[in-house]
Amino acid sequence: LRPDHVRNFSIIAHVDHGKSTLADRILERLGAMGERDKRDQTLDTLELERERGITIKSTPVRLTYTRDNGEQYTFNLIDTPGHVDFNYEVSRSLAACEGVLLLVDASQGVEAQTIVNAYLAIDNNLEIIPVINKIDLPAADPENAARELEDVIGIPASDAVLASGKAGIGIPEILEAIVERIPPPPGDPDAPLKALIFDSFYDAYQGVILFVRVLDGTIQAKDQIVLMNADKGFEVDKVGTFSPGLVVGQELSAGAVGWVAAGIKDIHDAQVGDTLTGKELRTTEAFPGFKPAQPVVFSGLYPTDTEDYRKLRDALEKLKLNDAAFTFEPETSEALGFGFRCGFLGLLHAEIIQERLEREYDLDLIATAPAVVYRVSLTNGEIFETQNPAEFPTRDRIKVVEEPYIKLSIMLPEDYVGPVMQLLQERRGSMITMNYLGKRVELLYDVPFAEILYDFHDRLKSISRGYASMDYEQTGYREGELRKVDIMVQGELVDALAVIVHEDKAYSLGRKIVDKMAEVIPRQMFPVPVQATIGGKIIARATVKAYRKDVLAKCYGGDISRKKKLLEKQKKGRARMKQIGTVEVPQEAFLAVLSTD
Ligand code: GDP
Ligand code: MG
Repeated sequence: LRPDHVRNFSIIAHVDHGKSTLADRILERLGAMGERDKRDQTLDTLELERERGITIKSTPVRLTYTRDNGEQYTFNLIDTPGHVDFNYEVSRSLAACEGVLLLVDASQGVEAQTIVNAYLAIDNNLEIIPVINKIDLPAADPENAARELEDVIGIPASDAVLASGKAGIGIPEILEAIVERIPPPPGDPDAPLKALIFDSFYDAYQGVILFVRVLDGTIQAKDQIVLMNADKGFEVDKVGTFSPGLVVGQELSAGAVGWVAAGIKDIHDAQVGDTLTGKELRTTEAFPGFKPAQPVVFSGLYPTDTEDYRKLRDALEKLKLNDAAFTFEPETSEALGFGFRCGFLGLLHAEIIQERLEREYDLDLIATAPAVVYRVSLTNGEIFETQNPAEFPTRDRIKVVEEPYIKLSIMLPEDYVGPVMQLLQERRGSMITMNYLGKRVELLYDVPFAEILYDFHDRLKSISRGYASMDYEQTGYREGELRKVDIMVQGELVDALAVIVHEDKAYSLGRKIVDKMAEVIPRQMFPVPVQATIGGKIIARATVKAYRKDVLAKCYGGDISRKKKLLEKQKKGRARMKQIGTVEVPQEAFLAVLSTD
């Protein structure tokens, strides 16, 4: 295999701009199975990924392309995760490539993820092939899309390839551009081994399977290797390529994309971004940019049925085997009993784990509101990090609290700039820049991460009638006046309902939570007070009204759909209940803080 006949590349795009469709089309053209069949058959791919139309794991595939003149090329196409929670994984997958196809939907133009992904590619010094996709659409405006790429990212409009993954237009041009514009992988096969891990998964028989890009040297079975950041040594069992699925091979040498099995039992030893080298012949420096996986959003998970505690723990152990970014530790709540405090890369990651626990492990769970990690300095000099409202000190003990910030990028039509800026102001955002692109605008804002955790994306979409897109990256910590809001039901403090919030918003959030709770807690035989407090002082209250037999009768003659709704609500509520004192509190109440109204 000649390295100058290898091309390693990825496809990047804003969601729905046609990445999967184009990848399928390329695979089909090069005689490989379609993406979806491939996924059904290989690797550890999830039903959830397919249903949600997002990729969580990188799935590489090796293809052979034959030019008209008979020359053969090996393409390694690395599909990257398509969500901001996994941006670090995306950046490592891109680091395994020399080039990317940057897709832009010709009817939509450049969107927030287009820009963020393009910069990830630029940061990795990759050759960018701009592809204006979906040109078959009646609303397609390829010139405009190409001009936006030039204006925003500085990619010459004349470089763009026009294509339609769906109609099969422009595919030969794309394949030729990959050969001509993307450089072959550099690297010296005789130098000491240096390989980048860009993904991994756990296999019950072979242990952790590392997805690697070999930068220098050669790796084969029986080699003694070292993971540089983990500082652990292993012996290689097998190596191979993806074609698709794991195909065992003889060796992988500089430029190659493939997999390595080395009897690694713990996925935490083999983190994405780490560098593989030889035990004897070591490379001098690890590949730059390694970041240990670190959860940034935390939430408590409790079984609705306390009998399921062990089952939940076993399920969490299993999920953790395959996910170095997911953490959990036991936690006890007075209200919810025994459960776990879990850490995730973001809200999507959290949702995926919860959904898997419920579907694959048949568990019914109560989840508490997600929280970010705060840095707290106390007046007594103590300093600690916490993401748990239960550990958050009262105001008199706080010297300084710092919270995480993000750089948020939003693309939207100019008509919606006013309302979106107002939303950002409500979320304590401050503007960095605003760029006009014809009739569209790019807004860059500094925003506290906690402010976009809840309903931000939904609100942005509804304010902009679906036209705004967003992406973000974490930037650092800054001081903020943060307080803990406690919730009491029937005079009893419910620890699992506490939330941390900025002082300016404590009242409105307290109001929102108690109102939502009064709405979702089923009526009781007696009125139940629900109160929000800060440091013992009541800031909002609401009452769950007493049950009256005619609650449904009242709807008769009137709105039948209202009655249906009421019944549905009761049914849904019944599925996930937690007894607090004499009151049954449904799951919805625990996420009251997340509700949009
Ligand atoms: P991804 O989110 O970037 O992977 O996008 P998909 O490949 O899943 O495509 C999103 C939607 O756009 C689907 O409904 C596709 O059928 C449609 N689509 C993809 N490519 C084209 C195209 O070239 N032309 C048209 N008209 N529709 C397309
Ligand atoms: Mg897709």
